[in-house]
Amino acid sequence: MKLIFLGPPGAGKGTIADLAAPALGLPHISTGDLFRAAVKDETPLGLKVKGILASGGLVPDELTIALVEERLAAPDARSGWILDGFPRTIPQAEALERLAPADKAVNFEVADEVVIGRLSTRRVCRACGKIYNVRNMRPKQEGVCDACGGEVYTRDDDKESSIKTRLENYRKQTAPLIDWYGSRGKLLTIGGEGGAEAVFAAFRAALGLNK
Ligand code: ADP
Ligand code: ZN
Repeated sequence: MKLIFLGPPGAGKGTIADLAAPALGLPHISTGDLFRAAVKDETPLGLKVKGILASGGLVPDELTIALVEERLAAPDARSGWILDGFPRTIPQAEALERLAPADKAVNFEVADEVVIGRLSTRRVCRACGKIYNVRNMRPKQEGVCDACGGEVYTRDDDKESSIKTRLENYRKQTAPLIDWYGSRGKLLTIGGEGGAEAVFAAFRAALGLNK
């Protein structure tokens, strides 16, 4: 199964993908995680995108599409995947259509106020990308990832000025993909405002996975 996750920043795409990927036996491919890993490792790509990520801007399509193309060529991505954070523009969606068309686009609906509240309290593991929230999903030991022992930190782009830019970019560049997938009969919409378990249950129901 090939799934893409749509929705504004903070909609819960990464959190639900972390639950859904092992349940479905699919790799969770997050372009944000791939870019952050490149920044951390100071690769040529990482050096190019570091400032863009921190400000909340979008990485140019050409670089993003090349990164995804390479990742989708890996053996674990042959029979399916969950793409979290890609496509984010119409040209990216067109490129994916040529590479490996998605079966479904799952759109997580969340109001702006909820998104802003979530992003400002979000924390992430620097090593493995696992997502936490200081309000309701804290790591067992403060600042330390439950999964890998890595450092749990606040992303540069989860600061207020970058959050605003990301929401604006989402509205202008990414939200049009909802209709784009809708008109191709691939859209599933689920409410994303509940807790992770409730949203995951709605996701399973929408895909007909509740047996
Ligand atoms: P979010 O919480 O905003 O969904 P992500 O972790 O998915 O965050 O992405 C973080 C950043 O990585 C984005 O703000 C953007 O700079 C870059 N990025 C991720 N995916 C894409 C993409 N498909 N196209 C362009 N830039 C991207
Ligand atoms: Zn970790």
